[in-house]
Amino acid sequence: MIDRKATIADPTPRGRMSAKRRHHIFSENCTAHHVAPCCLCGQPIHRHNDQWIIEHKRALGLLGKDTNTNCAPAHVACATEKTHKHDLPMIRKAKRQGTPKQSSGRFRMPAGVVFSWKRRRYVRADVKDSPSTEGAPTHPYQLS
Ligand SMILES: [Zn+2]
Repeated sequence: MIDRKATIADPTPRGRMSAKRRHHIFSENCTAHHVAPCCLCGQPIHRHNDQWIIEHKRALGLLGKDTNTNCAPAHVACATEKTHKHDLPMIRKAKRQGTPKQSSGRFRMPAGVVFSWKRRRYVRADVKDSPSTEGAPTHPYQLS
């Protein structure tokens, strides 16, 4: 049984991989007649003798593109292992953080900016609150 909640909604629409496209991608990756390296373990795959699938080098769930250049043949066994040991944990992590991997939506303070309690906003680090407090210890709750 597959827990559907554990899988990610696809940000990239997952088109059906036609046999023609599958073999086209295989051919593009061929290093010998009907043989292409597995993109996961590097061992050769034989087009007719091995079980193989087209693997997305960058998972769709991690915003990989559904393009031929993002695809390469892989042994079924290797792909299954990768999906469960690598991609799904990465995808879950990306989901937990609420942002797609790679583009962090987290707020980051620009360089040279500090938070001024007095002004209750971010100010340039080289801007002093006021001349009178210069040299005096600053305290967020200081009454003046
Ligand atoms: Zn392999």
